[in-house]
Amino acid sequence: MATATYDLLVVGAGVMGTFHAYHARRAGLKVALIEQHKHPQSASTRNFGQVVPSGMNAKWQTIGRRSLALYKDLQQKVDLSLQPNGSVYIASNAEEESLIEELAARNQTADYPSHLLTKAECLERWPVLHPKYCKAGLFFPEEISLDARVAVHRVIGYMVEQMGLDYFPTCQIQQVEMAGDDVRLFSSDGRAFAGVQAVICSGSEFQNLFPELFRESDLVATKLQMLRTEPQPSQPILGNILTGRTIRRYESFTECPSYAAIKAREPEMGFAKQYGVHILLTQAPDGTVVLGDSHEYADAKDKDDLGYELDNTINRFMMDEAMKIFQLQNWRIQSAWCGIYSQCKTRDLFQETIDGRLHIVTGIGGKGMTGSPGFAEQHIEQLFAEVLEKQE
Ligand SMILES: Cc1cc2nc3c(=O)[nH]c(=O)nc-3n(C[C@H](O)[C@H](O)[C@H](O)COP(=O)(O)OP(=O)(O)OC[C@H]3O[C@@H](n4cnc5c(N)ncnc54)[C@H](O)[C@@H]3O)c2cc1C
Repeated sequence: MATATYDLLVVGAGVMGTFHAYHARRAGLKVALIEQHKHPQSASTRNFGQVVPSGMNAKWQTIGRRSLALYKDLQQKVDLSLQPNGSVYIASNAEEESLIEELAARNQTADYPSHLLTKAECLERWPVLHPKYCKAGLFFPEEISLDARVAVHRVIGYMVEQMGLDYFPTCQIQQVEMAGDDVRLFSSDGRAFAGVQAVICSGSEFQNLFPELFRESDLVATKLQMLRTEPQPSQPILGNILTGRTIRRYESFTECPSYAAIKAREPEMGFAKQYGVHILLTQAPDGTVVLGDSHEYADAKDKDDLGYELDNTINRFMMDEAMKIFQLQNWRIQSAWCGIYSQCKTRDLFQETIDGRLHIVTGIGGKGMTGSPGFAEQHIEQLFAEVLEKQE
């Protein structure tokens, strides 16, 4: 028997599920957010916490900019760990300089503030940069960083305490049924939930719900390795720092006129390419520095082949590369971990609706911290358009 009737059931309290719950509660809907773990601990808590619309294509830049506004608004109500210090892309050679110049021009057309910085300006603002590496920079003043270890948890805590959210941690949904006008969800420990609609935001967990659908999809699981240094004794590092290989990787740059020619000149192979390594850095409020990352891929059906071990060859390579770029006071590593996100080969998001009332949303890839709050807002507006119209 179902225990309650909700307007919306949300499965998965990663950033995607959490912000679906947030927007639905803001619209006055009765919402249950259901998470299998005691605390969410998947991709949404293992990432850099870089909210960087600057790296997205035109469509997701707009969505990401809305996310920036949503995070900043929430930070007024609850401390999300938000640091409003911008992002900078550091070019290490003439090709990367051309790309940042071209992106700066595109940003003007898109009315997204960004400033080109000389080498001297970069070194002055970020003394952590190695003078030999840095040639120039492109700075995005509006962007933010979050401490992923706490940000989503604090949004959930705020919703429970201040917004009347019903939150069910340690509750793994194992079965889904359509019953009359309801969607019914059943957990492994015998709990039952009934809702008018349900959104499934299960991230890269393909094995419990809809395993066949996921197996047959073009979803890919991507494993990333990450490092955290001990706190830097007296070295504040402002904002998100993204470097040359990121300029060669992120979607926004693929829209630049010289991108294709520059990529064609890159060597076919090499360790960095094989393991998708690019070097990014964000300092957390406790002074530790998060460094990464690498990328290994497996089709949804082969996700387990990615393994659970951290490959120390990759970690050593990332450290060696990072030491060419940054001059940290303290390089001792406090912790290392991996995270897995899902993405599609042919779409920018995996969205399927079953019987008009059950909506699966996953596969947002490496842009989930940036894209999810803005995307979830649009999605809730679309799912509850009739209800919201009547409220106006
Ligand atoms: C190392 C790393 C670095 C990254 N850096 C960035 C970054 O700097 N900026 C950025 O924008 N993005 C970044 N990303 C991407 C971003 O983290 C992901 O896109 C995003 O977290 C995906 O969110 P999600 O809610 O879809 O999935 P998840 O975070 O995986 O959440 C899914 C949740 O669903 C729960 N769940 C699954 N099945 C069930 C079930 N049956 N019942 C109950 N609960 C269930 C899981 O326990 C989990 O909590 C990074 C990702 C990684 C791994």
